Amino acid sequence: MTKSAVLILLGPPGAGKGTQARMLEEKFGLVQLSTGDLLRAAVAAGTDAGKAAQAVMSAGGLVSDEIVLAILKDRMAEPDTAKGVILDGFPRTEGQAAALDDLLAAQGQSIGAAISLDVDDAAMVERVSGRYTCANCGEGYHDSFKQPAVAGVCDKCGSTEFKRRADDNAETVTARLEAYHKQTAPLITYYEGKAVLSRVDAMGEIDRVAADLAAIVTRVTG
Ligand code: ADP
Ligand code: ADP
Ligand code: ZN
Repeated sequence: MTKSAVLILLGPPGAGKGTQARMLEEKFGLVQLSTGDLLRAAVAAGTDAGKAAQAVMSAGGLVSDEIVLAILKDRMAEPDTAKGVILDGFPRTEGQAAALDDLLAAQGQSIGAAISLDVDDAAMVERVSGRYTCANCGEGYHDSFKQPAVAGVCDKCGSTEFKRRADDNAETVTARLEAYHKQTAPLITYYEGKAVLSRVDAMGEIDRVAADLAAIVTRVTG
């Protein structure tokens, strides 16, 4: 049996899943696996899955379990994931959660922790509307809450090019929040039932949230 950690970050759009996953990746040598990033790459590459996902994503709905699971399984089959993974934005439905259980069981693995990033809906629109990322390395920034140390220059790689997601607008965020409450929030109870759930107050500052998460991950991997 491999002793690699499988961690899940649950939370609505803008909760800080991506931000925290990248910090955990650096701190613990885990691999961030974001189904949103994988789907955006499929859309950009124009694959069949990407073509099917595109309209759903721009409307703020959830892509079908079938497509998401196929993409996730491919990524989990790559050797770097043996170090342990942080699932960022997956699972998002009970069907995905059950499929993940089966996939891990087949590999003699199990979930180390499912961590819910708890936030107020009201803050989410502001977080998502101000979000942008480095076009080169993907580091995440925010117009008000996380600006680069030197304006217009990425802290991590020095690039001066940044991008914003087409679905990070006020109308789509409302649909995405609705999808979260209907389809994803029930997973909090699902993982509570499996005794792997932790909850973190994600309304605090980025470093505060990171410290709370690090304590949980240390407990699970240590
Ligand atoms: P998610 O992956 O859950 O959608 P992100 O990590 O992309 O969320 O964060 C959304 C936006 O909010 C980003 O612009 C990020 O810089 C910012 N952000 C993340 N965590 C916090 C926080 N604790 N306080 C304020 N802003 C945050
Ligand atoms: P956020 O960081 O704001 O939570 P993501 O980048 O995780 O957003 O996801 C962007 C979009 O990709 C979602 O609105 C949804 O359409 C699709 N998506 C990502 N992950 C999943 C998933 N596990 N199941 C279904 N759809 C997904
Ligand atoms: Zn960068």
